[in-house]
Parts: sequence; C-alpha cells; structure tokens
Amino acid sequence: MKILCAIKRVVDYNVRVRVKSDGSGVETDGVKMSINPFDEIGLEEALRIKERGEAEEVIVCSIGGNEVQQQLRTGLAMGADRGIHVETGETTQPLTVARTLLKLVEKEEPGLVFLGKQAIDDDSNQTGQMLAALWDRPQATSASKVELADGKATVVCEIDAGLETLQVDLPAVITTDLRLNEPRFVKLPDIMKAKRKPLETIAFDELGVEKGVDLGLGAHEPPPKRGGGKMVGSVAELIDELKNKGLL
Ligand code: AMP
Repeated sequence: MKILCAIKRVVDYNVRVRVKSDGSGVETDGVKMSINPFDEIGLEEALRIKERGEAEEVIVCSIGGNEVQQQLRTGLAMGADRGIHVETGETTQPLTVARTLLKLVEKEEPGLVFLGKQAIDDDSNQTGQMLAALWDRPQATSASKVELADGKATVVCEIDAGLETLQVDLPAVITTDLRLNEPRFVKLPDIMKAKRKPLETIAFDELGVEKGVDLGLGAHEPPPKRGGGKMVGSVAELIDELKNKGLL
C-alpha cells in the first residue's frame, strides 16, 4: 500500500505573524517557513505505519511555487520515499487543492491519504473533506489515533463533544489532529540522504485542474492593540470592575 501525505508550506508556528503595511497579506519575506504542523503529524503517522510493515511507500506532495521543495525535502529527510511538487505561482484555495490532490490520487492510487485537519495560515479545515467527496471515498477527520487492519482503518476522531471512533474502508482520507503523535526530529545524515531521493515536479496546468471558486480577500489587519492590565486589590473589586465593563 502507498500512503500519500499532503504537506503545505506555511509560516512557522513559532513566528509572530506580521501584516504587510499595505494590508495585502502577511509578511513572508525573511520569515521562517515550515511544514504545516498538522501535515508533519500526518507524515509521521504514515512513516510509523510503514515502519510497522503496513505500507510499502510514503509519498509527500505539495502544491505551490518552487519554494515548497524545501518542505518536501524536509519530508523526505523525515523518511518519505519520494516527493511530488505540483508547481504553480498562484495561491491556491481548498477546492483547487482538493481537485489537484485528486489528480495525484488517480495517478498514484494510494490506500490512504493523510492531510492536516487545517492549514495554520488560512485555517480553512476544508481540503481533506473536499478530497474525500471528490474521490468518493470515506473520510475520518481530526484523528488522534489510527489503526489499520483487514483493509479498514479504525480512527479515533476529536469532535466537539469528545472522541468518536470511526471505522472506514480503505482507501480513505484521514485528517490529523495534534494528539495523534509527536513528529520525529530530522537528523543531519537524513538531510543529506534526502537530497538523493526522487522529487518529481508537475506543472499545475498539465493536470487540467478546474480552478475552484475564487474567494476574494478584502484586506488583512492586525488585531487591535491590547490595553494595559489593571491590578485589583480584592475579589470584590475584580467583580466590580467586570460589572463596570459589562462583562458580568
Ligand atoms: P485547509 O483546508 O486549507 O485548512 O488545509 C487542510 C490540509 O490540506 C492541510 O493541512 C494540507 O494537508 C492540505 N493542503 C492545503 N493546501 C495545500 C497545498 N498547497 N499543498 C499541499 N497540501 C495542502
């Protein structure tokens, strides 16, 4: 079985995001970029499945400009066998990404596709669900445990009310949540080895993907500055203050 892992290049989660002075987006120049944390978890899970002997190949794929090859190489250094870069200079929205991933799924025929539950830049939480619908295969979202047996995946999913266990037939789409695992650190020799692993580039236009509805982004602005805090002397004073602000 092959496992396909979608990884998106995003501003590293430790970076304090700054809005560009013209409000056209967030600053990415000179900013540390990384694999979307949920995608790293998906890749880690795929690698563990392969290490248990339940899959033969782990493929990482990413859609974006040439710069996404950095994150694909990191994925290869973590242990993926090969990478696929779908090259486009345009920003992509979830429906377009899902349609593109479907083309890769049709080409590679994986038994399992891992995506993050959401990309931390746009927080859409849509792509995995859309891919499963387009592919007409089952989905299990926000996974915190995955077990494979007899052509099925048993997945513990994080839901608002707690946890829900789903059993899905493979092939399926699984999106990952934070508690699923802790991704491994990449070691220097693995970075060197990753340079020799295959990384295929496919032009986005070659795939014949219909572009998704273009959601317009009006403007970006930073959150309002927080006012200074106030120390209160007692619980009674705190309650008065909250009442004065209309919070109680
Ligand atoms: P979203 O629906 O935008 O929150 O993204 C959910 C997941 O879709 C991400 O965690 C990735 O696994 C995948 N994804 C989104 N955009 C891309 C992209 N440009 N390249 C590869 N994977 C992506």
